[in-house]
Amino acid sequence: MADKHYDLIAIGAGSGGLSVAERAARYGKRCAVIERGPLGGTCVNVGCVPKKVMWFAANLAHSLGDAAGYGFDIELRGFSWERLKAARDAYVQGINDWYHSYLADSGIDLIQGEARFVDARTLEVGGERYTADHVCIAVGGYPAVPDVPGAELGITSDGFFALESQPRRVAVVGSGYIAVELAGVLKALGSDVTLLLRREHLLRDFDAMLREALMEEMLNDGIGILSGTQVAAVSRCDNGELCIECDNGQRLEGFDALIWAIGRKPATAGLGLDAAGVETDAEGYIPSDEFENTNVRGISALGDVNGKVALTPVAIAAARRLADRLYGGMSGRRLDYENIPSVVFSHPPIGTVGLTEAEARERHGDAVKVYSTRFTAMYHALSEHKRQTAMKLVTVGAQEKVVGCHIIGMGADEMLQGFAVAVRMGASKRDLDDTVALHPTSAEELVTLR
Ligand SMILES: Cc1cc2nc3c(=O)[nH]c(=O)nc-3n(C[C@H](O)[C@H](O)[C@H](O)COP(=O)(O)OP(=O)(O)OC[C@H]3O[C@@H](n4cnc5c(N)ncnc54)[C@H](O)[C@@H]3O)c2cc1C
Repeated sequence: MADKHYDLIAIGAGSGGLSVAERAARYGKRCAVIERGPLGGTCVNVGCVPKKVMWFAANLAHSLGDAAGYGFDIELRGFSWERLKAARDAYVQGINDWYHSYLADSGIDLIQGEARFVDARTLEVGGERYTADHVCIAVGGYPAVPDVPGAELGITSDGFFALESQPRRVAVVGSGYIAVELAGVLKALGSDVTLLLRREHLLRDFDAMLREALMEEMLNDGIGILSGTQVAAVSRCDNGELCIECDNGQRLEGFDALIWAIGRKPATAGLGLDAAGVETDAEGYIPSDEFENTNVRGISALGDVNGKVALTPVAIAAARRLADRLYGGMSGRRLDYENIPSVVFSHPPIGTVGLTEAEARERHGDAVKVYSTRFTAMYHALSEHKRQTAMKLVTVGAQEKVVGCHIIGMGADEMLQGFAVAVRMGASKRDLDDTVALHPTSAEELVTLR
């Protein structure tokens, strides 16, 4: 059995599992990755990558609408969902293929199939057993579906990426970033979209300015938003369309697709964690400490499965740091979960890092000073459809240390990365003011706020 023993086995070939194995292999360790699906995990196959392709397509649709203002006389002869999907699938397939050769070139064994713990050092895949000195659980999650009658008539984000034709009238249920992004894409590409929110707001954990500005933009784009609406049942009407019964008695009809975007669950149920003694929380997440250790020595958990921050670069960063610590002689190396930037690929996009204004006021009270602005970006000076840009800096103390930076508007997605570096380095408002502006841009507003 010596050929099946490894220094490290990663369960899951997604962002986290691939990264920990890749870094460990660079340190000369013998590594394997176990994967039951396509390489690349959620991000590559049913997450960030295909989503961003769809967002680019939606952006093009918006730009085509703006083109007349810039003097173009365009006759649009149509849009083919089928062609876009085929091109997107081919792109994703190319990334899958690249990962296969990358693993081979890196000397990492790929074990294809479903992993299950036999004990804390032994995993079984398709009847074969593999042992490792260290096991990294990076199994990610899957989209949640509510327990209501007819829920199976809906699809999830996974199903969205599998759609072979464009749904005509769609209900998107959820208020998080995935709900917002899918609703925006579908609307821009020509579907009639209704977004159903259980509570009042979109993007609950985001700064209020972002939530409110995005809600306005989505309404202006013609997306129907029903807040305080919980789905109680789904059924198929006689004409084949989907009907939605809401808990407030409302009945919505005429949909040809319903997308559940109500959150995700950790993929831990079939892993045999009991056999290894690995504890989970009530929702099935595997808690890990600041070094991503689980309660069992030699088993770590990172990425979406530990329930900390479900983003690809977070899984990658935690994974690389884990390998650095285990094999690179960097004993204190760990991911700092403070000030993690994130982007929402809405229309317009959102970029955000640090504390919201409400969080800052809760922690720092009157020491908080906020600078904000709202304007129409120059691009829209000539376009018929106008979009607002809104920005907010949240500062604390006499030095006005910037503890939060929140942007919604064209370019916010690309703009935020550099500001995230500044926030992480402890920049003050004065540091931003002392930085010479780039002109004419929207970003310059962030270094000229009064
Ligand atoms: C629609 C959508 C859009 C997103 N957009 C973004 C974005 O724009 N930016 C961003 O940063 N993040 C985005 N995310 C989140 C991002 O995809 C995840 O945070 C990231 O993929 C987590 O990586 P991971 O390694 O923890 O898990 P995953 O990437 O989910 O990988 C886990 C892998 O483990 C495998 N697996 C599970 N159980 C087993 C088992 N028992 N045996 C073998 N293999 C197993 C799975 O098949 C999977 O391939 C998005 C997610 C979704 C759903």
